[in-house]
Amino acid sequence: MTSMLNRLRTDFRLSIITLLGACAFLGITPFAVMRFLQGNLIAGIVDVLILICIASGMFYAWITGDTQRSGFVLAFVICCGAIAAGVAGKAGFFWLYPCLMASFFLVRSRGAVLVNLVAIASAMIIQNDGFQSSVHMWSFFATTVMTSVCAYVFAFRNDHHREKLELLATIDPLTGVKNRRSMDAGLNLALADAVRTGRSYAVVMMDIDHFKKINDEYGHSVGDEVLLSLVALIQQRIRKTDQLFRYGGEEFVLLLSGVDGNSLRLTVNNFQQILRKNLRCRGVAITASFGAALLRRDESVENWVARADAAMYEAKETGRDRIVFSENMPAADTGLPVGSAELTN
Ligand code: GH3
Ligand code: MG
Ligand code: MG
Repeated sequence: MTSMLNRLRTDFRLSIITLLGACAFLGITPFAVMRFLQGNLIAGIVDVLILICIASGMFYAWITGDTQRSGFVLAFVICCGAIAAGVAGKAGFFWLYPCLMASFFLVRSRGAVLVNLVAIASAMIIQNDGFQSSVHMWSFFATTVMTSVCAYVFAFRNDHHREKLELLATIDPLTGVKNRRSMDAGLNLALADAVRTGRSYAVVMMDIDHFKKINDEYGHSVGDEVLLSLVALIQQRIRKTDQLFRYGGEEFVLLLSGVDGNSLRLTVNNFQQILRKNLRCRGVAITASFGAALLRRDESVENWVARADAAMYEAKETGRDRIVFSENMPAADTGLPVGSAELTN
């Protein structure tokens, strides 16, 4: 129950699908009952079909988490339902207006435009003779299009703001690389992919040596420049599938995919050489310490990162400007059994 509430709180589209689904249920069920009681079988069956579609869409969204597809289907179903009600009943197309608005809550703005255009065109084609006059028909067209355009403008602005907020929440403002929050998401995705496809992953934790001294001697802004140089040096050389995150302060985490023990060793050695050669502050070479860990079978993300962290600590403890591979550390130092991969520094 708490996890359901949590999903409703964190997934906006799922909560909208649930809310609209519940409203549709409460709104349509009495009509369905009334139609059967009045002997209007066809209208009753249409109402029941709409209810079944809405329930299936809600169920699908909750089970699979795929709110895009179910949202699209629901938007389509409610618009069709409103058109059917307009064609079969005497209330006209009034129900179509809230449905045209609702489709922007259920689908991304472009998808909603498509659903709405199809709905408006269908209503005009099906009801061509049903409009009292051409003025009536074109007024229907103008008002439904205006409703959709207004909803589109709001939805577009909303999407734009959401994307901006997402960027602010996931990117480190100084270096432009992904932040700790994105790292947690990225590592969890990597773990899920490793379980599903068997692809291998590794994390490399990097920490600049004696960074505090740089700040103390030259000032914070010079320290910032060093951080930017490090990010540029690493990012130029990683593959598209690899990701760099700022773990905090002068610590960074690299997520590498498709690596085995050997290629991990080569890659991290290469980064160490690049930093040794190119990372400078007022002509003085700056180094970093590295801790690397290959993802093990049945391992949690926390454990994986903790092993890389312990390896990085070991590199610091044993002199800095070093690489330590978790697979080479004694079990007592990582709190885990020694891995199978044999790596050497
Ligand atoms: P070690 O070799 O043991 O890693 O020593 P260190 O001096 O690098 O490590 P320590 O953790 O003691 O110092 C890290 C410093 O990084 C302290 C903090 O002021 C500085 N720092 C953290 N974030 C930033 C930042 O965004 N910009 C700058 N310029 N400095 C930062
Ligand atoms: Mg440091
Ligand atoms: Mg540090």
